[in-house]
Amino acid sequence: MATSSTIRENLQQVRQKIEAAARRASRKPEEILLIGVSKTHPPDAIHEAYNAGLRHFGENRVQEWEGKLTAVADLQATWHLIGHLQSNKAARAAKAFHSVDSVDDWSLAQRLDRAQAEKRTVEKLRVLIEVHMGGEETKSGVSDADLPQLAERVMTLPHLEFAGLMCIPPLHENPDEVRPFFETLRKLKEKLEAHIARPLPTLSMGMSHDFEAAILEGSTEVRIGTAIFGTRPKNP
Ligand SMILES: *Cc1c(COP(=O)(O)O)cnc(C)c1O
Repeated sequence: MATSSTIRENLQQVRQKIEAAARRASRKPEEILLIGVSKTHPPDAIHEAYNAGLRHFGENRVQEWEGKLTAVADLQATWHLIGHLQSNKAARAAKAFHSVDSVDDWSLAQRLDRAQAEKRTVEKLRVLIEVHMGGEETKSGVSDADLPQLAERVMTLPHLEFAGLMCIPPLHENPDEVRPFFETLRKLKEKLEAHIARPLPTLSMGMSHDFEAAILEGSTEVRIGTAIFGTRPKNP
């Protein structure tokens, strides 16, 4: 496990790389939100990263996150669900997260909307639609053909704030091979914006090994685990 000093140092390095990539793309570093992916790591690691300035965290399992939540409830941070969500866990997810970044199904969106309504807060639950990018690694995500209809429907739900798109591209060691998938998602967002006649602020793409390529293609949110928290155990 990474020690506190390495989490702080890792974070600093990641921030520097984000800034450099933003500069190369003639973009402002502030346009890019850093989400630290803390899945499999203990609440202590989240505290360390928080103390080093990190304010957004991503987890991929509702149950794991519920187990950590009380230990980090004192932190003024934003919690993102970034992993695939089954409809039957929607209510729990709406309670435990501020944002669900992996919506790929209409019944799931409806359940999230209902659960958010039951929270009796004026705040909406932020959601991103996950788009399937081909490849065998992940089966989650909506196809690009079904994206416009799902987006239109999600926009009708009063307790959800549809903010943009997310993708997990097929695994490649070489970030240059991943870059075309990032370009595809950016273009899908632009097409969708024209279709729904409103801008979408968020493009969530880029992980530890490819976030610089994602920033060059317009990413506004990078989800970084290993490069901040160290390697994860194989079978958590
Ligand atoms: C685990 C995970 C990440 C972070 O992956 P790293 O390679 O450790 O940076 C990002 N996004 C999703 C959806 C993940 O499940």
